[in-house]
Amino acid sequence: MVLDNLGTSLKNTLKKLVGASVVDEALINEIVKDIQRALLQADVNVKLVFALTNAMRERITKEKTPAGLTKREHLVHIVYEELTSFLGGEQPEIEISGKPTKFMLVGLFGSGKTTTCAKLAKYYLKRGKKVALVGLDVWRPAAMAQLEQLASQLKIPCFVKKGEKDPIKIYDIFVDKYKDFDLLIIDTAGRDAVNEELITEIKTVAEHVKADHTFLVISADIGQAAQDLAQKFHDTCGVTSVISTKMDGTAKAGGALSACAVTEAPIRFIGVGEKIDDFERFNAKGFVGRLLGMGDLEALLEKAQGAMSEDKAEEMAKRMTAGEFNLIDLYEQMNALKGMGSMQKLMEMIPGMGQLQLPKEVLDVQEGKLEVWKHIMDSCTKKELMNPDEISADRIARIAKGSGTKETDIREMLKQYKNSKKLFKMMKSNPEDLMKQMQGGKMTGKAARMFKKMRGKR
Ligand code: GDP
Ligand code: MG
Repeated sequence: MVLDNLGTSLKNTLKKLVGASVVDEALINEIVKDIQRALLQADVNVKLVFALTNAMRERITKEKTPAGLTKREHLVHIVYEELTSFLGGEQPEIEISGKPTKFMLVGLFGSGKTTTCAKLAKYYLKRGKKVALVGLDVWRPAAMAQLEQLASQLKIPCFVKKGEKDPIKIYDIFVDKYKDFDLLIIDTAGRDAVNEELITEIKTVAEHVKADHTFLVISADIGQAAQDLAQKFHDTCGVTSVISTKMDGTAKAGGALSACAVTEAPIRFIGVGEKIDDFERFNAKGFVGRLLGMGDLEALLEKAQGAMSEDKAEEMAKRMTAGEFNLIDLYEQMNALKGMGSMQKLMEMIPGMGQLQLPKEVLDVQEGKLEVWKHIMDSCTKKELMNPDEISADRIARIAKGSGTKETDIREMLKQYKNSKKLFKMMKSNPEDLMKQMQGGKMTGKAARMFKKMRGKR
């Protein structure tokens, strides 16, 4: 997970809070110090850290604990809310409604602009938008070829003119074509550092292109320097959003994350690897939830949505939450999780699961099960797949024979199905309750019994 260390420190801090016998001034001081230390280690700027913890402390002392919350819960909530607003608060999806809507990406050399153009394109292609790329990096010799290559991977048009040295001219050559697209993503040139030349170029391009959104692409590994950079770009071309790349490779991403506190341009996306799919929409609530170990159902759904088709995901989410969830859904859901790579990463997004630390063997076995399930499902009738509750003992025997699997495999799959169905229902109808049951790495009540059953069977 991105910013693992910060997450661990913050989780430990909250554990301290939850486990304390009395909530008093001394405890609050200790908690605030812990949070400061954790943020500083993640390379968040000192001034910002103090501004943040002062705001927290002020609320802690001034606010009355609302009815229905314990003092501890209230404190956790304040920490959560303040961290969330520090990271730009809740951001709605960007609306793609123009013909075309124009995104322009700016940033230094090697920050990941060109790669991110393709990542963004894929993100919106998946959402049914018609996308084209425009390459205005006249500075790097291979920049246009790189963009073309990415565009051909995505099978979308890429407007470039190699050899042309004026970005405005390149933009104008294709101007008649742009109206055919919902979204135009414009790559620009960087430099090693912000200098006069870059500022003049970006300004000229920005004024000509009149983008609807200007994304500053920042490599997370530059740490605190991100702030100064964000400020300069913001002054030059009115950055409206930040994309923080290379979040996979650094423990110091706090610096980049706090860039939004300076420019008031929220982080909209993060890059978490070199591949086109290594890209996530950034949602402060979900991110902080995961840092604090609370997880986030929304982020989970969004990930699953990306891996499956849009329609399927939407339908599945609807059925999952309505409790109408069948075997095909279970298979697709498992398959989607597998496609997304490590299960543990996903577990972190499910409420409460972030603290569970499932043993590796458990997850591996689970992924291996898919093959067997596939065979089982191939031998089921459509009716059985849609109504797994009606699969009786003699049907189980028939399916086992037909699929060359063991009856115990089928029973296990059915059990997993029942438990998943219950869990999704609970996640939706009563996430707080589920979270409470799982806090502090321990589970009690219904959720605990359910997970015990799920794990015991593997
Ligand atoms: P540009 O100069 O700003 O256009 O940057 P590029 O898009 O050419 O990327 C520079 C390098 O960073 C390339 O090697 C990319 O593969 C790599 N890169 C971009 N985004 C990420 C990311 O999120 N994670 C990792 N690990 N590498 C990235
Ligand atoms: Mg580039």
